[in-house]
Amino acid sequence: MSYSLNRKIAGLTPYEPLSGTYRVRLDANESFYTLPETLLEKVGKAVKVISFNRYPDPYAAELCRAFANFYGLSPEFLTAGNGSDELINIIVTAFSLKGEPCYSFAEDFSMYRFYGELAECERVILPKRDDLTIDVDEVIRRVIQTDTGMLLFSNPCNPTSLGLKREEVRRLIRSVNCLVVLDEAYMDFWDQSLIDEVEEYDNLILLKTCSKAFGMAGIRLGFAVANPLITNALRAVKSPYNVNSVTQAIGTVVLREKELLKSRINELIGSRKELEKELLALAGRYPVLRTVYPSVTNFVFIKTEKAREISAALEQRSVAVRCFDGYLRITAGSQEENCILVHELGGVLKEGV
Ligand SMILES: *Cc1c(COP(=O)(O)O)cnc(C)c1O
Repeated sequence: MSYSLNRKIAGLTPYEPLSGTYRVRLDANESFYTLPETLLEKVGKAVKVISFNRYPDPYAAELCRAFANFYGLSPEFLTAGNGSDELINIIVTAFSLKGEPCYSFAEDFSMYRFYGELAECERVILPKRDDLTIDVDEVIRRVIQTDTGMLLFSNPCNPTSLGLKREEVRRLIRSVNCLVVLDEAYMDFWDQSLIDEVEEYDNLILLKTCSKAFGMAGIRLGFAVANPLITNALRAVKSPYNVNSVTQAIGTVVLREKELLKSRINELIGSRKELEKELLALAGRYPVLRTVYPSVTNFVFIKTEKAREISAALEQRSVAVRCFDGYLRITAGSQEENCILVHELGGVLKEGV
């Protein structure tokens, strides 16, 4: 036997999320709300009547109707996925051919690059401006050179927390010929969505997740929104039973709770505003927090050359945040969690890093 891993995968290591228990976890942009008791009862009832011996509905029709209803869409534009992560994988694998360009930004969700690599695309990393905003004209100039492949980006952006206005995104999609995959994982926290107009584009797939604003990261559920031609292709290439019956049942029940979900989104936004304000105040006192970016998401992004040191010191105090090279990303938590974070971060900065 002389089997060896191929060059695509030989160097890969399994994804390692933060392990261990922390007093406060603000590292993964999850909602700080779980489902309320009354809703848990409905969820329990829905799970009880699942035909566990049968395969799930391959098109998750009822679930898609509930999601479509929440946004006022037509369900014919929807494909459900086992998290939007699965959808990114399927899209990159199926909608590009080997060697075709896969454009993504230097500062963006790391999965775009990762799946692009697995699909053996030609990865093209586009720069952002120094202030982490996107220069749409520059992007168009770069991407227009090709008719194939795709451009993937998140708007609002994870990790920068910044957003590109609707009109700019429209201009970008209309100016290029390749597929645009617009990940609106955090758009529930802002008001610049293109979800109502996907039908108008022949080159757009918009992605949504139930993991952030809807507080259901645990059930793995995401959606792709696209015109019927693209949707038909997506449904054809996905694995038939990609969304399990339990997730379909729970997602359907929860997505019908429009009022609850909307009011929680407002509370998450309120929490982020509060956290942002507190962090700006800390940055005023401690210039090592160089920039607190104006967030349109449920997290705050901070530029600091001491990101590693601060993150490690917070970890010592049992507070988890996400550390990038030169930046910190802090999820907005409950009032109490934000309070502990601000208190501990203040302590770390006072001691000096
Ligand atoms: C969290 C996140 C997702 C989520 O993915 P799921 O697989 O649905 O949990 C997708 N895109 C971005 C930019 C994210 O930050």
